Amino acid sequence: MKWRGRQQSSNIQDRRGQGRGGLGGLGGLGGNPFGRGGGGFRIPTGGGGRSRGGIGSLIGIVVVLGIIWFATGQNPLDMLTGGTGSSSSASSSSQIPASGDQDELRDFVGVVVKETEDLWTEVFQASGEDYPEPTVVLFSGGVDTACGAADSSTGPFYCPGDQQVYIDLSFYDQLRDQFGAPGDFAQAYVLAHEVGHHIQNITGVLPEFNQRRQSMSQEEANAYSVRVELQADCYAGVWANYAGQEDLLDNGDIEEALNAAEQIGDDTLQERMQGFAVPKTFNHGTSAQRQRWFERGYTSGDPNQCDTFSGNV
Ligand SMILES: [Zn+2]
Repeated sequence: MKWRGRQQSSNIQDRRGQGRGGLGGLGGLGGNPFGRGGGGFRIPTGGGGRSRGGIGSLIGIVVVLGIIWFATGQNPLDMLTGGTGSSSSASSSSQIPASGDQDELRDFVGVVVKETEDLWTEVFQASGEDYPEPTVVLFSGGVDTACGAADSSTGPFYCPGDQQVYIDLSFYDQLRDQFGAPGDFAQAYVLAHEVGHHIQNITGVLPEFNQRRQSMSQEEANAYSVRVELQADCYAGVWANYAGQEDLLDNGDIEEALNAAEQIGDDTLQERMQGFAVPKTFNHGTSAQRQRWFERGYTSGDPNQCDTFSGNV
């Protein structure tokens, strides 16, 4: 991606090295730092995701590109991981230096986010509306959000409660090394997907999902979640189209995004993790679905083509 030298977003908040207040490092929280009741996704935390491989990274996988709600309740992901939440390792917060590479990544994120702002501002303006830009928070180790505390093993996520995207830049190492999705445009796709959730929050898709899933079975909620996630992938594709118009794309960029979409598809992830896939637990979509919807957004460049809620996906 030709990102160097381009303008960066002013909505990047760098909280790296700050940890998450008094909670950091308390592995004894039982793996779930969310104490509040109510329905929602529970985030299985594995402790310092960076400090160990194994189960920590597996847990990280299942929440890749997630939305985090109000932090508690039943979690479709627990079924995947066997509910493993016990955390034995200390949080790695504040142990991760802001490396030179990470500073470059920060600039990269700034440019990508700015380009998403430009796209969505245009889209909203076309219907006479303002685009409320989200803040993108960079953190290391752990972070407090309106959706509760999270740590690096959570993976990048969007919190509807504070309209912020959260990412630990070390996730990009994981994306390349553990998920087999290298390339800067794979990284850009991740951000554009999370921004897609922000769009859904504004358009009412997320609030409706949050409300309706309360009365759904787990299986129904998973199927609904897949539609939500695929729409975010489609929006990421729309952004990729825009990036093309802005002459930001290198040869191979779209392939990098499509490969990432494949590698983080539910079926591919589950097969890698446990050797088999359980479709009713899918909550992000299969590799084929994720690729298809990204491609649909990319090919059309039109968010109106991203209706994942009617018909089959
Ligand atoms: Zn998502």
